[in-house]
Amino acid sequence: MRKKMNKKVVAITMNMKQATFKGGTHLRYNKELTSGLKVMKSTPPQEVVLPVSMHLGAPSKPIVAVGDRVKMGQKIAEPGGFVSVPTHATVSGEVIAVEPRIHTNGQRVMSIVIKNDMQETLHESILPRKEYKNLTSKEILQIIQDAGIVGMGGATFPTHVKLSIPEGKKAEYLILNAAECEAYLTNDDALMVRNSDEIVKGLEIIMHVLGVDRAYIGIEDNKPEAIEKMYESSKHLNIEMYSLKTKYPQGSEKHIIKAIAKREVPSGKLPIDVGCVVFNVATVKAIYDAVMHGMPLIERIVTITGRGVVKPQRMDVKIGTHIEHLLQQCDGIRDTEKFILGGPMMGFAHYSTDVPVLKGGSGVLLLSEEETDLAPAKDCIRCAKCVAACPMGLMPLMLSNMSIKSDFDKAEQYNAMDCIECGACAYVCPTKRMLVSNIRVAKKEILAKRKQQAEKAEAEKAKGGNN
Ligand code: SF4
Ligand code: SF4
Repeated sequence: MRKKMNKKVVAITMNMKQATFKGGTHLRYNKELTSGLKVMKSTPPQEVVLPVSMHLGAPSKPIVAVGDRVKMGQKIAEPGGFVSVPTHATVSGEVIAVEPRIHTNGQRVMSIVIKNDMQETLHESILPRKEYKNLTSKEILQIIQDAGIVGMGGATFPTHVKLSIPEGKKAEYLILNAAECEAYLTNDDALMVRNSDEIVKGLEIIMHVLGVDRAYIGIEDNKPEAIEKMYESSKHLNIEMYSLKTKYPQGSEKHIIKAIAKREVPSGKLPIDVGCVVFNVATVKAIYDAVMHGMPLIERIVTITGRGVVKPQRMDVKIGTHIEHLLQQCDGIRDTEKFILGGPMMGFAHYSTDVPVLKGGSGVLLLSEEETDLAPAKDCIRCAKCVAACPMGLMPLMLSNMSIKSDFDKAEQYNAMDCIECGACAYVCPTKRMLVSNIRVAKKEILAKRKQQAEKAEAEKAKGGNN
């Protein structure tokens, strides 16, 4: 169901530039399950489980031991290198374990477990700051790394690294990704409605860091309240808002760049290679909290939804809170067929709800049978719907078949590595072919082969050097 726009939002939208991309598909969005609800604050958890790896890059290194008392916001693990961030206590209390625990990736990962003393005692290092303009870019990047900020749209790439523009490259387009194109999820929408001023201030901080005098906001046209709030907060600034057609996967980095900057990120390249940097709204709000209030990333909004949840909600949640604890506040679950972390298109099915909410965890989905098409795959009828839906211009059916036949070299030639795993092809396929899963297998094999080749070349070079 699409939310109605009032006259003011219609007028704002009319004045915004309209943009979209080629390909993609329209989903059964099901956002109405939570989109009208107030964000509730989760009750304090008894304990939090904080894996040292909630980000891409090197894991952080624990600096606390069992029995230590910690305060909320205190650093409890140091970054493991430049492409890494620290981990912070998200509650005050006592460290009761430093041991491997089940991560949302399904594996056991070293984690710090804190028993909550329910006092919410803030660490003394957390102090507000009046002005950021006196700080250099380098100082702000250090604040962002120290605050443990990573891409909160799900990518979890350390934000200070993304903001460290390599020599010879220049950021020309700073884009706020406010699309939230995944079905069911409404947490970014909620954040924009509630915290538009802080998000826009965060965007100004990034403009200062990158030395750009203009920023762009791309927001899908199914979020009227967020459009109004973001417009009101940004209208006095050099920030241009784009109304993006509601279409999946509009929020993919490459497609929002294409829609707004009209630039194509070439195969194997990064957005900065075409002068673009893109940030998710929650990440930008976290930058504001860190730079203006000295607050590390210890909390986020999560959408807990699906017809398997008795009372779907959007909640402010301390990172490390068990998902079970959140579900209890939603009056539990019923007739659930599938449990997914993230959105239904790009999230990952999980076998247990006994895992913690992590920094990149935007959604908890419990889907009922009617929402889950578990019909077995049938033979391809060559309708080419998957080709029309692919936003990367690939041929999903062929790539999938190459993967099934283990012809990974051919899959590489046919650009399997360009697949962004958005799932649009599988979504539209009338015979329910396992297209994305098969392409994922091919990508994994291609990467393994490339790694092997690089290692071999390195060894040959070393041998040559020794002669
Ligand atoms: S082939 Fe990849 S990029 Fe194309 S629609 Fe399928 S999942 Fe998306
Ligand atoms: S959408 Fe499905 S049935 Fe149609 S061509 Fe693609 S794989 Fe075959």
